[in-house]
Amino acid sequence: MNQTVNQIPPYRWAKRARDSVAPEGGTTSGGDLIELGGGFDFPDALPDIVSEAMAAAELRSETLQYGPLYGLNDLRDAVAEYLRQDGIAATRENILVVNGAKHGLDLACRVFLEPEDPVIVAAPTYLMAAKILRHAEASFVSIPQDEEGMDTEVLRDRLQARQDAGESMPKLLYDMPDFHNPTGIPMSAVRRRRLVDLATQYDFVIIEDDPYRRIRFEGEAVPPIKAFDESGRVIGLGTISKILAPGLRIGWVNADPAIVRRIAAHKSDGGSCPLLQRIVVQLLRNRKMDQHVATLISLLRVHRNAMIDAIHEHLPDTLVRVPNGGYFLWVRLPPGIDADELVRRAAKEGVSIISGRLCFAEEPPGSFLRLAYSFSTPADIVEGVKRLGRAYASIRSELETSINRIVRS
Ligand code: PMP
Repeated sequence: MNQTVNQIPPYRWAKRARDSVAPEGGTTSGGDLIELGGGFDFPDALPDIVSEAMAAAELRSETLQYGPLYGLNDLRDAVAEYLRQDGIAATRENILVVNGAKHGLDLACRVFLEPEDPVIVAAPTYLMAAKILRHAEASFVSIPQDEEGMDTEVLRDRLQARQDAGESMPKLLYDMPDFHNPTGIPMSAVRRRRLVDLATQYDFVIIEDDPYRRIRFEGEAVPPIKAFDESGRVIGLGTISKILAPGLRIGWVNADPAIVRRIAAHKSDGGSCPLLQRIVVQLLRNRKMDQHVATLISLLRVHRNAMIDAIHEHLPDTLVRVPNGGYFLWVRLPPGIDADELVRRAAKEGVSIISGRLCFAEEPPGSFLRLAYSFSTPADIVEGVKRLGRAYASIRSELETSINRIVRS
């Protein structure tokens, strides 16, 4: 029977849910649209997990039963080992398995934030993180980035000014130091260390979200912020979404056991899916994940290059930053070109992109696009940017016409 009724009751929504209705979807745009918006994994490269899934299904009493709240110990150990490769002193007690990094952020908000609590974010920041923080009813302290990442001196000045004015001080800072989404900027080692010092001085906790660290095309890695943390002020969020498959929905929180235990108490699912966790343990142990990452790097480097070349050809007068890794390009549009309008016209031309406006927790300081080169093939990337170029050209010519009219009148 169809459940739609003629008139719904006047549901008494919680305040935080009054304006939030999720659209259907969460998948690629589909149809004839070329997807250059969402950070989906490259479909041709998704790993073959059939043998691991079959082996996991054999372990019925582990994988089909309720699993441990903190996650399978084998996975917690494997994640700790993975983090130690980056200089983070993690052991099983530091790791809580969650259903993806976003889930970890949601849980961290639950244990740290009261409504209106200020949270420090970069401007721009990860659009879903901004959304999760908004749902936690946080207020924002947005700090600009330069080529070294979040500007820690601006941050220091803002914090000091708040303190001097007796304003409430942020409890949390959220950022992505490696191949930032959307800008692709890696934070310098100096800034990472400085952030930890500021966290101690001004008493806040840093949430370091690090999904793209291994997707590096060029350059040398610097240690994660967590590697500079000697006092338990950094929560690391990790995920296999960008290095294996987002559909598995496995991530982790890496923090001091006091934080891990507190967050676990608020993890209301009673433990993440043990079947999926066992599959991931095997993919880590048999090194398939390492091989997969190597394949991804060589494929996505080609994708990135194809997109950069196409942007230079089809989007004149825009500024694009060439990232050394990650999934995204960040494009600054010239004055007068509205990103939201460009998104609408691009969709009509047959390409899906993301307006930079969504990547700011507060007012954007200009007009930007976030483009993902992860999902589409190089040929589709080129065609997609060509279509985007047509939408862009149509706005530019209207803009020129109206400028000419103003000049003549
Ligand atoms: N953090 C960042 C910065 C991301 O870009 C993404 C994916 N777009 C995620 C987290 C998503 O993580 P997960 O799929 O594990 O929830």
